[in-house]
Amino acid sequence: MNATLPFTRPTIEEVDLEAVRQVLLSGWLTTGPKAQELEEAITRYLGGGIQVRVFNSGTSALEASLLAAGVGPGDEVVVPAMSFVATANVVLRVGARPVFVDVDAGSRNLCASAVESVLNPRTRAVMPVHFAGMAVDMAPIYELAESRSLVVIEDAAQAIGTAYRGRKIGSHGNPVCFSFHPNKNITTIEGGALAVADPDFAKHIERIRFHGIERDADGNMDVPEWGGKMNLPDLGAALGLAQLARLDDFIAKRRELAQGYFERLPVHPALRLPADDPGHSWHMFCVCLDCAALGRRRSEILDHFQRHGIALGTHYPAIPLFSLYRRLGYDRGVFPVAEWIGEQTLTLPLFPKMTMTDVDHVCHVFSELLGVSR
Ligand SMILES: *Cc1c(COP(=O)(O)O)cnc(C)c1O
Repeated sequence: MNATLPFTRPTIEEVDLEAVRQVLLSGWLTTGPKAQELEEAITRYLGGGIQVRVFNSGTSALEASLLAAGVGPGDEVVVPAMSFVATANVVLRVGARPVFVDVDAGSRNLCASAVESVLNPRTRAVMPVHFAGMAVDMAPIYELAESRSLVVIEDAAQAIGTAYRGRKIGSHGNPVCFSFHPNKNITTIEGGALAVADPDFAKHIERIRFHGIERDADGNMDVPEWGGKMNLPDLGAALGLAQLARLDDFIAKRRELAQGYFERLPVHPALRLPADDPGHSWHMFCVCLDCAALGRRRSEILDHFQRHGIALGTHYPAIPLFSLYRRLGYDRGVFPVAEWIGEQTLTLPLFPKMTMTDVDHVCHVFSELLGVSR
C-alpha cells in the first residue's frame, strides 16, 4: 500500500531549500530585503501599476485592509456564507458586522444581485471571495459598489494567479488580499499580501502592519495611529520568491489535473462537479456528493476513501452555522446553497506533484462507490 494521497501538499524543491538556507545564514531573518523583493516580484507578476505589501498572513492583510479603509463599529460588511471563517472573523475583529449572502451553486461565489439585496445605509464594504481559485464575476460588483459608494476588498486568499476576463485578480487596483498559507497555490509558510493601486492606502497599511510606526526624513519615529504586528519575515519571503517563480507552472499542472478529473469522474446524479473557467487557478477541486441519496453519511464516505489511501478535505462548513455566528442571530435554512455545500462538499486531491495516475485512482474509487463506470 502506498502512502496516503493528501488533498494538498506544498511543492518544496531544492531551490526552495537553497533560498531558505541563504536567508538563515545571512544574519537577517525577519522583514528586510527579501520581503521587499517579494513585493516587487508580486507587483511584476500582477502586471505592474499597483502597490504590493506582504503580511504575515492573509488574515492580517484582510484585517489591515478593513482598518485602512476605515471600516469599523456601526458598519456592515457583506461576505459570502461559503468561505473559510477568516473572511467573516476579520469583520468582527475590526468591530463591524458581517452580513452574509448565499452563493451560487455552480461557481460557489457570491453575485452582485445577492449583495444588492442586503444593502442598507449601514453597508460600508463588500468582501467577495474567489472560492477555490474561481474568479467572482466582478464587473457587476464594481458597478454596484460605485453606484452605492461601497468599499470592495477582495478576499483572493485562494486566487493568486487566477484571471478574470483575461486579467489577473489583483491587477485591477482596488484592495485585493492573497494568502500564502502552505495549502495555497504558493507558500511563504504563513503569509499573505495586499495589492492596491492607491499609494496612500499602501502607505497607511504599512503603518497598520507594523505598530503604527511612521518615520520622517530624519528617521525620527512617530506613532500617529494604532498598528499591529503583521510583518512577513525574510525567511518566508525568500521561500515565496522561489515559489512565485514557478507559480505559473504550478497552475498549469493544477489545470491539467483538474481537466483529468472532469474527463474521468463518473457521471451520476448524486455527484456535482465544480464550474470550470479558463482563468481558474484550481486552488481546490471541490465536488458535492449527495451522501444521503446514497444512504451514507459523509463521514463514512471519507472513511471509505481513507481506506483506499485517499485523504479528502471538506471545505468548508457554512460560516453562519458556527456557534459564534449563530449568537449573532444566524440560523439554519437562511443560506440553502452554502449549507448544501457545507454538508456535501468533498475536496479531491489536487497539487502540482500529483500524477494523472493519482487522478485515475481517485476517479476509480468514485466510480466503484457510485456503481458506474465511464
Ligand atoms: C486561507 C484563507 C484565508 C486566510 O489566509 P491565512 O493566510 O491562512 O491567514 C482567508 N480567506 C480565505 C478564503 C482563505 O482560504
